Amino acid sequence: MVKKVLKFGGTSVGTIERIQHVANIIKKEHTAGNKVIAVVSAMAGKTNELVKLSNEISEEFNKRELDVLLSSGEQVTCALLSGALIKLNLKAKSWLNWQIPILTDGEHTNSRIINMHIEKINKFLDDKGIVIIPGFQGISKNGDVTTIGRGGSDATAVAVAKIFNADKCEIYTDVDGVYSTDPNKIPVAKKIDKISYDEMLELSSLGAKVMQPSAVQTAMMYDIPLEVRSTFTERKGTKIFSEENIDYSKSVTGVAYSKDDAKITITGVEDRPGVAANIFEPLSKAQINVDMVIQNISSDAKTTDITFTVKRDDIFKTKEILNKSNKIHYKDIIQNDKVAKVSIVGAGMVSTPGVTYRMFRALSDEKINILAISTSEIKLSVIIDESNILKAIKKLHTTFDLD
Ligand code: ADP
Ligand code: ASP
Ligand code: MG
Repeated sequence: MVKKVLKFGGTSVGTIERIQHVANIIKKEHTAGNKVIAVVSAMAGKTNELVKLSNEISEEFNKRELDVLLSSGEQVTCALLSGALIKLNLKAKSWLNWQIPILTDGEHTNSRIINMHIEKINKFLDDKGIVIIPGFQGISKNGDVTTIGRGGSDATAVAVAKIFNADKCEIYTDVDGVYSTDPNKIPVAKKIDKISYDEMLELSSLGAKVMQPSAVQTAMMYDIPLEVRSTFTERKGTKIFSEENIDYSKSVTGVAYSKDDAKITITGVEDRPGVAANIFEPLSKAQINVDMVIQNISSDAKTTDITFTVKRDDIFKTKEILNKSNKIHYKDIIQNDKVAKVSIVGAGMVSTPGVTYRMFRALSDEKINILAISTSEIKLSVIIDESNILKAIKKLHTTFDLD
């Protein structure tokens, strides 16, 4: 008998018909003799709708209440799925975050799961019951409802797999696996059969929404193999596991992109030791994450320009901090929030020379200007104008034989 965690995303439970379809997938697994714990997201679009409602009250809506509000979407799908299974004459039961409980640590809207009580759920599984758990949430030490970050049902599924010592964790979604790039944007994207945790972590951190980064990180830390597969077809999905199982014949495995960056240039900054620290220290204290940094060589040996990128949502706060600081002297601040980040990722890059220049050449062939660059062992990211994003992804996809 195999213990399986099956996670169903928002589109997979987006309508009553789809919930009934999911109930049939679970029935099949259960009939085959498996112990099933299903983790569900809210119906597609529901969480966004709830965020919008809170914004109508206030853009600074109270975080504790926001968590109470946002967690409600998963309560609905838990009950509907459990009800659909009961209608199929199966023994099923939903548990809410506080009923399990799922214990979390950290601040509201961005907590992380630290533990869960397992006895009663294990007992129900032993008694041939099917368990339904809401993704994306938990409760704090004080008993307050918390959420664990957008897309967090993936992280719940991985945490459940770890804490319940499951044999398998399957992520059911609206695509049939992880592709070389978003298949809904680039139709020639190719499905990847197997991918390492490291590569998946880079791809998802750099914008491939198909898996939430913190879920991949936990899976990597505890060596929990994952499979991403489709709710709507029976095709084989993508296996995500440790590196030794993977064949690296390609230098680049995938191309990711995100449109949530913004670029800031501070011109005429004094060129002396300590200036960069004076700029970035207050930003870090304000929890603003700086991604790429470029400092131009000063032409007059007195002043220089510093360019860096931050999340687009942080641009206002960043400018406010720079304006207020009396330790930074500069001529001007120029911002550009119509930029995008395009990245190539591949564990094979470590052993293949020339990947960097091929990426730059490919972009220049398309007359795409590179505004900033950052690299790590297995990824190369560039900032470009947002209007060039599709052209860039297509070109890189072809250049690195991913079509
Ligand atoms: P769910 O609601 O099931 O969690 P998500 O919308 O979070 O689903 O993630 C699935 C979506 O991720 C797909 O519809 C696809 O558009 C997008 N996506 C982005 N990059 C990739 C990629 N490299 N491979 C597969 N899907 C991707
Ligand atoms: N419903 C939550 C969200 O939309 C969690 C999830 O779907 O994973 O972010
Ligand atoms: Mg998701």
